[in-house]
Amino acid sequence: MTTAEGCQFIDFFCGAGSLNYGHNPPVVKQALLDYISRDGIQHSLDMTTEAKAQFLECFEQTILQPRSMDYKIQFTGPTGTNAVEAAIKLAKQHRKRSHVVAFTNAYHGHSLGSLAVTGNQTYHSEYYGSHNNVSFLPYDGYLGDFDTTILLEKMLTDRSSGMPLPAAVVLETIQGEGGIHVASDAWLQRVQTLCREHNVLLIIDDIQVGNGRTGDFFSFEKAGLSPDLICLSKSIGGGLPLSLVMIRPECDIWQPGQHTGTFRGNNLAFVAANAVLNHWNDASFVDGIQVRSNTLQTYLASIISEYSDENWDLRGRGMIWGLDIRRGDLARMVIDTAFENGLLLESCGSDDEVLKFMPALNIPEQQLRQGLQLFRQSLQTVFL
Ligand code: PMP
Repeated sequence: MTTAEGCQFIDFFCGAGSLNYGHNPPVVKQALLDYISRDGIQHSLDMTTEAKAQFLECFEQTILQPRSMDYKIQFTGPTGTNAVEAAIKLAKQHRKRSHVVAFTNAYHGHSLGSLAVTGNQTYHSEYYGSHNNVSFLPYDGYLGDFDTTILLEKMLTDRSSGMPLPAAVVLETIQGEGGIHVASDAWLQRVQTLCREHNVLLIIDDIQVGNGRTGDFFSFEKAGLSPDLICLSKSIGGGLPLSLVMIRPECDIWQPGQHTGTFRGNNLAFVAANAVLNHWNDASFVDGIQVRSNTLQTYLASIISEYSDENWDLRGRGMIWGLDIRRGDLARMVIDTAFENGLLLESCGSDDEVLKFMPALNIPEQQLRQGLQLFRQSLQTVFL
């Protein structure tokens, strides 16, 4: 990015994960220019348009069919929080139960319905009346090595636990805003099994770590999950606002008009979304994520080895990594210094104590190394 004054920045935050394919990707610019110059329909509510049909067909062929996935798609509006709320509402209606289970450190959005399943109390206020009908259980790793699915099972089966049988369990496979907590495959599989055993729907919020962030298109592919509902937003729109819920066909019990929202027919977003999906037909793009992921992880590990006296923790997978430096005030100083040096970084975690690394999936190797070098310098300024 270049400022009006001509200062250049390397972006390791990527529009909070909405620019996985980079800023202004040429394929998106070209597709939008072509569409606008053809006077394509801009907004169409629920009507079928060429742009929507093309996106759906491309999603089916590029993403769903190769993975043998069978889902219906509901467009839910511009933002991730819209998708989360639609998924939870559908689950409650489908299961005819009002309760849901979410996890410690979860982040699912800031509007009231999604806030209800967001853990971090700094986003809450007693006036919002949030957290209604939600139980928070410990995420994987929250209690050290203790297998927290034991607790989930107990809460689901023991009628004296006080927890009503939930309609759904909602979770991120890697908690992004919560501090880059990576759930193990075994934990995720166990949660899915418990959901199936108790007729509880599994909602995976892949808004931040889907769209290729972990190396696979969906973050849960490695664990082999088949969620009932999947929320996508951020990078699905190629930089334009778009959110959707993928619904297992048997769960689609919506009646027309039961869940609406004006901007669910934004054709410019469909055009951009279609343009970026084509990356998934390009083996060099997919393989490249792995290469850059290795660079990112190895480089970060080497940087922190210079600070072996500190009790830091590096966590992540694919192209999302978090360096937990245990103190939010110090993380803020590193971020501010990085900004002065020309690197956009952000933090996450309950006290903003985790530095977050989330560059574009296709960032040129040389820019990636340059950004990491700027990070190394910024860390030295603060700590040495
Ligand atoms: N879920 C997850 C996992 C997210 O990371 C976010 C945004 N950080 C949201 C939901 C909410 O998305 P939005 O900000 O677009 O409403």
